[in-house]
Amino acid sequence: MSQESAFNPFATAQAEFDRIADLIGLDAGARQMLRSTQREYHFNIPVRMDDGSVQVFQGYRIQHNDARGPCKGGVRFHPQETVNTVRALAMWMTWKCAVADLPLGGGKGGVICDPHNLSPREQESLCRGWVRQASSNVGPVRDIPAPDMMTNAQHMLWMLDEYETIAGGRYPGAFTGKPVGMGGSLGRTEATGYGVVYTLREALKELEIKPRDTTASVQGFGNVAQYAIELYHRLGGKVVCVSCWDQNDEVSYSYVKPEGVDLEELRSITDHFGGIDKSRAKDLGYKVLPGEVWLSQEVDILIPAAIENQITSESVKLIHDKVKVLAEGANGPTAPEADPYLEEKGIFVIPDFLANAGGVTCSYFEQVQSNMNYFWELGEVLSKLDVKMTAAFYAVFDLSKKRDVSMRDAAYMLAIDRVAMGCRDRGWI
Ligand code: NAD
Repeated sequence: MSQESAFNPFATAQAEFDRIADLIGLDAGARQMLRSTQREYHFNIPVRMDDGSVQVFQGYRIQHNDARGPCKGGVRFHPQETVNTVRALAMWMTWKCAVADLPLGGGKGGVICDPHNLSPREQESLCRGWVRQASSNVGPVRDIPAPDMMTNAQHMLWMLDEYETIAGGRYPGAFTGKPVGMGGSLGRTEATGYGVVYTLREALKELEIKPRDTTASVQGFGNVAQYAIELYHRLGGKVVCVSCWDQNDEVSYSYVKPEGVDLEELRSITDHFGGIDKSRAKDLGYKVLPGEVWLSQEVDILIPAAIENQITSESVKLIHDKVKVLAEGANGPTAPEADPYLEEKGIFVIPDFLANAGGVTCSYFEQVQSNMNYFWELGEVLSKLDVKMTAAFYAVFDLSKKRDVSMRDAAYMLAIDRVAMGCRDRGWI
């Protein structure tokens, strides 16, 4: 059985959509429109390899819905990419942009390839080839791609350069995720992690808990985790455990320090993939334990900020009774079957596409700044980010109270309703 037929992430995303559509009593036209993708581009990208041969790669750009504005979403390079993964992620971007109340729709792109096996010149060719195929259907007023899994700022600059060559002008707002100084926004590095903590701060306020009286355990020590910890520490909280993947041992380890981890010290022994040097951590007094130890810590807050599907119907039972808030920094860290257990335990969940929407919000800021060709100071970016994340949190929180539903369902209800309204207002349905 092919990987694609074995697991279909788009069918899962559609099932989740159907469930929420029932909850909000969505009409048949809106259902039909929103459960499928609006436009799809599938294309071949021929690349002249370094040895002189030609290899043809399969590329995609999928636009799920652009009722609220031009589509936004990453381009992934992955050997196991499937069209249904790209469809699901495009739909998910629509909901994420809508919950953050950005004037953007949802899109996603991908190429089936393993960039580890491609030289920089071959990667550049692939990026330029992707743009040559997609250029008439993307751009600052249609669809704005960004980096994603295994793509980075360099890939975006190659793509932008090709786009501008075809378009015959400078359109820095056509791609985001560019380096600062070349059209990138200050604050993008911090945005997702800080965004998680802006929403966490509001959740604690509503629960009448002072951040300085809390402790937290974090899964992951990459971009999202490190900046979430930075801001959480600034609010007075104490992180007592972080975990990360160990490339050599091919297992994850938790790094525990009951008196609180020292962020800068840990950063100084971490590689740029978010992997901590185990033996140096031990020398610094961290208890290093394999497995899911981060999840069973006696803390107030859990922040999964690594990968998907970490809190399952089994592992959810490891969560300590003391835990009050789960702030989902990663995408999809909680399996749907675990949600009822979290509810039973009375844990306040800040769902992923609300908690980690700081990244796309800052990408939107980059697009705005690029279109104006005027760039904001860091403080301005972060204060605008705080305003957007706080407003998004309360829009979801208020709806969850009003309709007596979970924060996750409320976030979906709000997002789907906003997009349906956009389609209705345009007279599409
Ligand atoms: P990253 O690659 O910088 O860091 C990932 C971290 O997770 C690393 O420390 C790695 O060691 C750790 N990890 C991987 N597998 C693990 C495991 N099984 N157990 C424990 N730790 C493990 O990634 P990131 O940019 O910080 O992204 C983290 C998550 O947040 C992903 O789900 C990503 O999709 C999501 N996200 C990121 C952004 C962003 O702006 N970076 C935005 C939205 C969502």
